[in-house]
Amino acid sequence: MSDATDALNRIFGYPSFRGEQGDIVDHVINGGDALVLMPTGGGKSLCYQIPALVRPGTGVVISPLIALMQDQVDALRTVGVRANFLNSSQDFDERRIVEAEFVAGELDLLYVAPEGLGTAGVQRLLDRGKISLFAIDEAHCVAQWGHDFRPDYLNLSMLHERWPDVPRIALTATATPATRDEIASRLRLTEARHFTASFDRPNIQYRIVPKNSPSKQLLDLLKTEHAGHSGIVYCLSRASVEKHAQFLSDNGIPALPYHAGLDARTRFQNQGRFLREDGLVMVATIAFGMGIDKPDVRFVAHLDLPKSVEGYYQETGRAGRDGLPSTAWLAYGLQDVVQQRKMIESSDGAAEFRRNANRHLDAMLALCESVTCRRAQVLEYFGQETAAETCGNCDTCLSPPESWDGTVPAQKLLSTVFRLQKERGQKFGAGQSIDILLGKRTEKVSQFRHDDLSVFGIGTDLKEAEWRGVVRQLLAGGFLAVEGEYGTLALTDRSSEVLRGERKLMMRRELAVAKSRSGSGSSRQPAAAPADFPESAAPLFEKLRTWRGAVAKEQGVPAYVIFHDATLRAIATLAPVSLEQLGTVTGVGQSKLAKFGDQVLEVTRAEA
Ligand code: ADP
Ligand code: ZN
Repeated sequence: MSDATDALNRIFGYPSFRGEQGDIVDHVINGGDALVLMPTGGGKSLCYQIPALVRPGTGVVISPLIALMQDQVDALRTVGVRANFLNSSQDFDERRIVEAEFVAGELDLLYVAPEGLGTAGVQRLLDRGKISLFAIDEAHCVAQWGHDFRPDYLNLSMLHERWPDVPRIALTATATPATRDEIASRLRLTEARHFTASFDRPNIQYRIVPKNSPSKQLLDLLKTEHAGHSGIVYCLSRASVEKHAQFLSDNGIPALPYHAGLDARTRFQNQGRFLREDGLVMVATIAFGMGIDKPDVRFVAHLDLPKSVEGYYQETGRAGRDGLPSTAWLAYGLQDVVQQRKMIESSDGAAEFRRNANRHLDAMLALCESVTCRRAQVLEYFGQETAAETCGNCDTCLSPPESWDGTVPAQKLLSTVFRLQKERGQKFGAGQSIDILLGKRTEKVSQFRHDDLSVFGIGTDLKEAEWRGVVRQLLAGGFLAVEGEYGTLALTDRSSEVLRGERKLMMRRELAVAKSRSGSGSSRQPAAAPADFPESAAPLFEKLRTWRGAVAKEQGVPAYVIFHDATLRAIATLAPVSLEQLGTVTGVGQSKLAKFGDQVLEVTRAEA
């Protein structure tokens, strides 16, 4: 048996490497550089942890997540790995202890923040010990056009110059082919071998629903499919975060807010509670989540449209790291498109920035409006071919949306915008154009005498929700644009293709119609228990969970640091009566067996 496999079995309690893990580990152990792209939950950590254990010296892990270093280190210590961290949260004495451990060669792994590595003090310290490898976690933070850019990551190119003989492994869960090249060039990883795992997350069910009353839709989802589950709800604004955290709490769902406007202590506390307690919902801006490796997040819900497919996939990827069924749910509507286009338009970034932001948004909109498999589309975006055209686990596969020929309504809508502008020299938002088409004599319609326009009342064949869908899809396809502070509608270069009848526009059927077809509009049963978990093991699983909760509390660590749900399920299924039997369960390594084995057996034997 190789040293690597031995460490995997003995320390982590896993029988074998997954996918490319084994090749990556071998490559780094032999001193090679590597760029690893693997989806969240794919098992990136072992790719540097095992080589750090096998190679002489300390593995230095660069991670942007200061607030999570303690948890990462706790989890490693629980399996018997000698780990510690250095960051700005520590006082002088605490740092001195860690530094001494490193210099004495008493650490397998040392976590440092990227800003720390930029300081002469830390660099001199690293010169005084032996480094087995550098692992650059969340490597996409170096990409300047990316959604998580951290300027300190740019300095990391010096690792290669200063320690040319130390292998480097960069890891990320998000990268299009372009971002991948940017990471390689900025980190001077030009010689590195690239390892790209499949980005598919088969256990996550992707759903994008039309937004009508988002708070109620969210509550429905949580009550019917995710009662008692941990999950994350993403909102665009801080105000919306506060509002929805309160709303969920008022409705009996334990929820906490997280956004950059909260003081650091509250943020840290809320994050800690989310990690440690079962069944909490975190309502957050995208400031929350990077590096949160809580394995049992059962759903990620977006109440607002993410700015890019990369962001969407990164955020939804936080669900279901343990491989159990999970939901990624997004509510999306016309207002999202208007708002995002407006934000880009009014940003003071350079033209290049705006072009880039619009490109990202276009891809996200295309995903939302898609009538084909969501998963296939996302994977294609990340440059990955999919064998099957339907995945069977996304909303469009489970209940294929109806499409309809929206060319004539699109022409009516575009004509309205055209007439307002050409005949009156006016620009209005979507609402006014729709009122005109529906022939509504509102105050504003009368005030501007829009009832005199030839298009007034020519759209009564569609309902308002359907008109909003038409506007949304025209905006998404670039046949219509949003301008200025008020988000007024304007024609684009492509509008004429539709107006002249050169282009047929197939559209998604809107909610008003879709609803009558599928009842509540929810397309699936509550997340099923995994197939290999027998119903009869459930009571023992619950007892083990209670035991785990008590131990976690006593030790002040998240429950999953003791054992993952998946491991507890396996134990409950096997119901072992000896340490030897217990040791065969995936996720039970030597150290955990020694620490917790007897206690677990007490629980399982009582049940036998
Ligand atoms: P990532 O960092 O890529 O998101 P992690 O390293 O956190 O993923 O791993 C995800 C989960 O998969 C963890 O619970 C981890 O313990 C588990 N895991 C990783 N590799 C293996 C393996 N070879 N066998 C069994 N479980 C594994
Ligand atoms: Zn699908």
